[in-house]
Amino acid sequence: MEPMSNHTSLRIGGPADVFVMPQSLLSLKNMHVHLKKSQIPFFPLGGGTNILVRDGGIDGVVISFRSFKKIEVLSDDNTYVDVFVEVGTLLQRLVNFSLENGYAGLEGLAGIPGSVGGAICGNAGAFGYEMKDVLTSVVIMDAKGVIERFKAEEIDFGYRSSSILPDELLLSAEIKLKKDTKEEVSAKTENFLRMKREKQPLWEPSAGSVFKNPPGLFAGKLIDEAGFKGMRIGDVEVSSIHSNFFINKGGATASDFIRLMEKVAHKVKERFGVMLELEIKIVGRE
Ligand SMILES: Cc1cc2nc3c(=O)[nH]c(=O)nc-3n(C[C@H](O)[C@H](O)[C@H](O)COP(=O)(O)OP(=O)(O)OC[C@H]3O[C@@H](n4cnc5c(N)ncnc54)[C@H](O)[C@@H]3O)c2cc1C
Repeated sequence: MEPMSNHTSLRIGGPADVFVMPQSLLSLKNMHVHLKKSQIPFFPLGGGTNILVRDGGIDGVVISFRSFKKIEVLSDDNTYVDVFVEVGTLLQRLVNFSLENGYAGLEGLAGIPGSVGGAICGNAGAFGYEMKDVLTSVVIMDAKGVIERFKAEEIDFGYRSSSILPDELLLSAEIKLKKDTKEEVSAKTENFLRMKREKQPLWEPSAGSVFKNPPGLFAGKLIDEAGFKGMRIGDVEVSSIHSNFFINKGGATASDFIRLMEKVAHKVKERFGVMLELEIKIVGRE
């Protein structure tokens, strides 16, 4: 049993029955075949920065992709560069790699924690940049253990969503970045990072935005105007810096988090007639 609170940015979550970190594609494939044959449930984990794991923990096996962290330039012309990246790579390592080489396209993703795999599955984005915009293809192991490459156009991406299924394992991706100067990419990246630092409590344990922004509106503003800024249930607090971030003030539990979330959503619906939709994913058993 491995406490999932050790593997989530919220530092909340009961134990996973089994926690594994495969070191190679072959061991991942063998394990996947075995899990499927034995009907053992599994959960693919990236950086754990967009999930709330319930207090009862996770049934079956949590698969960490942390060992899959290769970044490699595949081809390069005067204008563009094609980069291969494995899903366990930290998104910020990829952002820094782009910055150091003067490759443009990821500047707005500066400061978003977690892995490249999680960023693709949830189409992470900020400041008008989205992961899907640089993606050219992905390699996925499907529920039958078949490994296949898909063009980015074959995956449906939406606002913080993709059509990648919960029982599919994303393995790697290719992205296309535009050649620019290091100074230009660096200046843009720094600027977005500064804006993010000003608006969000990046230093406190959270899972980022709890709710998606409803069309044309900001979830944080609605929560704020509904009177929840700084409100607390147990050790979970609505951030006083950004009301769509809920903070673990020390000993927070998933059930307190869910109670606060439901209270906020209920009040926002009552007050503004807007049904907030979750951005974070709630996983695990009660
Ligand atoms: C302080 C803070 C700021 C944030 N700011 C932003 C922001 O500006 N924009 C934004 O979009 N998000 C933001 N987030 C949310 C989060 O960081 C992103 O959604 C991130 O891309 C999630 O990546 P992860 O690796 O942590 O995914 P996880 O939380 O580990 O997983 C998310 C989902 O992806 C699935 N998954 C992960 N890897 C794989 C894989 N290899 N194969 C199959 N499925 C997989 C998981 O099963 C899960 O369903 C923020 C979070 C924090 C804590």
